[in-house]
Amino acid sequence: MDFAIASNLSDALETKAATPAAQFLAGGTDLMVDVNLAHHRPEMIISLRRVEAMREHGPGRIGAGVTWATLERSPHRALAQLARTVGSPQIRAAGTIGGNVGTASPAGDGLPWIAALDAHIEVESKARGRRQVRWDEFFVGVKRTSIAEDEIITAVVLPDEVPVAQEFAKVGLRSAMVISTVSCVVMRGSDGFRVALGSVAPTVMRARQAEALLNSSALPSSSTLEEFAATVSREVTPITDHRSTEAYRRHAAGVLARRLVERCLS
Ligand SMILES: Cc1cc2nc3c(=O)[nH]c(=O)nc-3n(C[C@H](O)[C@H](O)[C@H](O)COP(=O)(O)OP(=O)(O)OC[C@H]3O[C@@H](n4cnc5c(N)ncnc54)[C@H](O)[C@@H]3O)c2cc1C
Repeated sequence: MDFAIASNLSDALETKAATPAAQFLAGGTDLMVDVNLAHHRPEMIISLRRVEAMREHGPGRIGAGVTWATLERSPHRALAQLARTVGSPQIRAAGTIGGNVGTASPAGDGLPWIAALDAHIEVESKARGRRQVRWDEFFVGVKRTSIAEDEIITAVVLPDEVPVAQEFAKVGLRSAMVISTVSCVVMRGSDGFRVALGSVAPTVMRARQAEALLNSSALPSSSTLEEFAATVSREVTPITDHRSTEAYRRHAAGVLARRLVERCLS
């Protein structure tokens, strides 16, 4: 395995263009698990740790290299909430939002927040420059994205309006250091409620039918909330695996989503 250390973004893009099979290493908390436990052997690894530009974090844009430790203090409530649940302090000090997006696991805790916002993923290549891809065109399958071979993820780009009322919760096999069995973000903006879920479909998803039901009344009654939870449970498409069963995931998705709607209302 060859190893390159990019000193800046153009250096990273240049190396990637020359060796498209090379894989980027940000915090390494996903990639090194693959290398060490799954015996994954990329032809080359390009370290991004010295690429300062990717750690920039401002209104409207979160650099791919921003760590969960930084995002724990985000002004966006659900983003801070979810960042605090990622792994342990050591994992949060190294792991990045760009790495979460790059892995594209259905259980990636950052992804429901991105989906609820209808955020874009900014990618860049040496040959074609920058482009933005909407989240639902970026995540195309279990651990699969639409990024081209010569591209790098540079940032998560937020829309102009980021709802203040936003809540995150997840359930897992234990209460800390746990990969999500079900995760959920609910936001309440000027266009109504948005509901995004992780670990219940091949990619992160929006519960569009449940959103429409909720948004059909100004203030949902308790029977609407009940119907909303049942719609979420029907709309998700989970599987049974070593972490949970399909039935439990359906049930938990409805319960979590309803709970977060109630928190956004209070
Ligand atoms: C003990 C442990 C606990 C964990 N707990 C959680 C958890 O609770 N929730 C959760 O969501 N995740 C969890 N994870 C997974 C992991 O920490 C996160 O997904 C993290 O955000 C990955 O970021 P990273 O910077 O370490 O990515 P890396 O491992 O460096 O990279 C991950 C993938 O993305 C690619 N990549 C990275 N940066 C870029 C870029 N800029 N452009 C293109 N591709 C890129 C890499 O090539 C690789 O394929 C855990 C991992 C461990 C080991």
